[in-house]
Amino acid sequence: MSVEKTLSIIKPDATKRNLTGLINTKFEKAGLRIIAQKRLQLTRSMAEKFYEVHKDRPFYNDLVDFMISGPVVVQVLEGDNAVKLNRDVMGATNPEDAEEGTVRKEFAESIEANSVHGSDSLENAQKEISFFFANIELVT
Ligand code: ADP
Ligand code: MG
Repeated sequence: MSVEKTLSIIKPDATKRNLTGLINTKFEKAGLRIIAQKRLQLTRSMAEKFYEVHKDRPFYNDLVDFMISGPVVVQVLEGDNAVKLNRDVMGATNPEDAEEGTVRKEFAESIEANSVHGSDSLENAQKEISFFFANIELVT
């Protein structure tokens, strides 16, 4: 097992419903440590840049609109195999396909408003962490 860091975002649908604490409890119970966290209102250009890999997908514009529709909480989670562990805690992109007990099964409203983002690889985790955080902000 290797200790990894991954980037997590609690999305606007969840912050609006005051679910930050309940979602963080799921991370912590799974053994992920929140080593950095801040609440932000993303600008359109930040959201466009963050989701640039999806810019040719039909849902891109709606996704950007959704991600700037309210505050987000960006965070760095650390733990053994944190990238995969966090994806397991999150559940499938579409909440209808997500397993019992996952964040998306319990809290997501739709395939778009699905409560959380999590990096999908260690390489992307490093890029996404540096998109939002300086090294000095990661307190292990
Ligand atoms: P994940 O967040 O599980 O890694 P993707 O990277 O494929 O999923 O998609 C990024 C985000 O785009 C999703 O979390 C969701 O908010 C949105 N999204 C994905 N697929 C769709 C879709 N078919 N319709 C609307 N929104 C979508
Ligand atoms: Mg993804």
